[in-house]
Amino acid sequence: MLSPPPADLNLLNLLGFLLLASIVAAMPMVINGTPIFIIQWVSIAVFLRYGLFVEMITVQLSVLVLLTKLRIPKEGLFRLPLNSLMFFVVSLVSGTVYFSLGGQTLSRMGEGTVVLWLATAYAVFYYVLNQLIVIIYQKFVYKSTESYFGKDFMWESLTTVITFPLGFVLYTLHLELGALALLFIGGPFASVSLILRMYYSTQDINVYLQKAAEIGHQLAERIKVDEVAELFLQKLSEMLPIDYAYVIEIEENDDVVMARRIENGFIMPNSQIPIKKYQGVSGTVWGTGKPVLFGSRKEWRHIVGGNLPADSESVLGIPMEKSGRHVGVVVLVSKKKRAFEKSQLMLVDILCSHYAIAIENARHYEQAKEESERCSLTKLRNYRYFEKMLTREFGLVDKRVRERLALIILDIDHFKAVNDTYGHQSGNEVLRELASRIKNIVGDSGTVARYGGEEFVILLPEATSREAYNMTELIRQSIANWPFILSEHMGGDSPQIPIKVTASFGIATAPEDAEDAMALIRHADRALYVGAKRAGRNRVAAYVK
Ligand code: GH3
Ligand code: MG
Ligand code: MG
Repeated sequence: MLSPPPADLNLLNLLGFLLLASIVAAMPMVINGTPIFIIQWVSIAVFLRYGLFVEMITVQLSVLVLLTKLRIPKEGLFRLPLNSLMFFVVSLVSGTVYFSLGGQTLSRMGEGTVVLWLATAYAVFYYVLNQLIVIIYQKFVYKSTESYFGKDFMWESLTTVITFPLGFVLYTLHLELGALALLFIGGPFASVSLILRMYYSTQDINVYLQKAAEIGHQLAERIKVDEVAELFLQKLSEMLPIDYAYVIEIEENDDVVMARRIENGFIMPNSQIPIKKYQGVSGTVWGTGKPVLFGSRKEWRHIVGGNLPADSESVLGIPMEKSGRHVGVVVLVSKKKRAFEKSQLMLVDILCSHYAIAIENARHYEQAKEESERCSLTKLRNYRYFEKMLTREFGLVDKRVRERLALIILDIDHFKAVNDTYGHQSGNEVLRELASRIKNIVGDSGTVARYGGEEFVILLPEATSREAYNMTELIRQSIANWPFILSEHMGGDSPQIPIKVTASFGIATAPEDAEDAMALIRHADRALYVGAKRAGRNRVAAYVK
């Protein structure tokens, strides 16, 4: 059985079969992302024709070709002897069974009876044994818990059944025509495989395009810059095998470079990273405006000045463009070799365009929102913003998340007189200067807003009424003790006129002075009019029940 191969086995035939097997192995059909190895139809022809020994050589060669083709990473190389061994066992056992049941190899048509059913039984036995070993592998070597009889199994069985007859045809035709049969059968098979491949690669592209459109929509729906950036990075890392990702934004003047990063699955905070045009991978993509795709460190090592992590291998770099200007670079890195494909480059490219637009829209939105919440004259927060803030802060006190809250309201004394004497422009000058004096004193300890015409409010979270009073007194003095300089006044000869301005203040604190947010304002206002204005102005009054 393992005796020397038949006499009619010449070099041309052997090489022909080996070549066909290698070609078939090199083009596994990839269905739903799983490569399907359908070499059996060739191996069965070889087996029926030349026996077990040659069949084994053919199968072992195919396994080798397949594994190099699948680009098994170094860590997975143990699969090679494991696979070889598996096919060795399958070949040996199936062959032994075939011959012991009376099967034989033939070198000429009509030389004996081709036991067709026996050959079929051989093929079925071969396939079942193969699958059985794979199941045992997966269970005990890979410890996989997934069901083995899934879609992949179905596809593999189906293609195997469909291609079996091809093996018999190859075998009989080879008896008749010799090596020419390899061309007749191998040619069409290779073409079909190629067509299927193209079909699936366009399907892959379709799926990518669909995904890209979907993500584009999601990006467009986000209105905050940070949310857009986070979603973008998240989606990228869901779709591609990314270990590091950098989204680099280039400002108009070219030297301010901001980056968002993912490192080993964690989204890192924004940071400034030192990138120069034409330096490193990202600098090169930025400078040339062309995408790059590297399969391993060897391919980009020569690019100097970069700062990719030491264990980077595959790199995908894509420029982000908007209205003809380079606005950023996206660099995706994997620790694995050949982790990215060309079609993925296209996907990332499309996503980058969506991202660039979404981020710009989010910026506009944030800017517009910011502007809508500020007073354009004083640049302080406006009443709209203040009201929201007050409701929120009061809610926190209500829920006892915060202990207390102080609200100060102030009104400029005899402001009408400033307008009447020096003009509206000078009135505005006073408002601006006053706003900045308040802001300087309050700083980050509270929120200052323009409440109305010449009224301002200050919200101090966690301030006791004593602390609020002290701060208010400081503000009162900073207004009353230093003259306001008018330079846009009408009338008078000197270009600048110093005037004295004072203001009156009312304070109310929660929870003691008010049961809801609006009552807090009302009570502060009451303190202002009753306690400060009526009492002679330029003073601070706290609410008394
Ligand atoms: P009181 O001490 O009682 O508060 O006297 P007052 O003159 O400040 O009080 P009143 O409420 O009568 O006057 C407020 C004035 O503030 C009226 C209005 O012309 C002026 N004003 C309101 N908003 C602006 C503004 O945006 N710019 C300028 N220049 N004046 C403003
Ligand atoms: Mg007023
Ligand atoms: Mg006033």
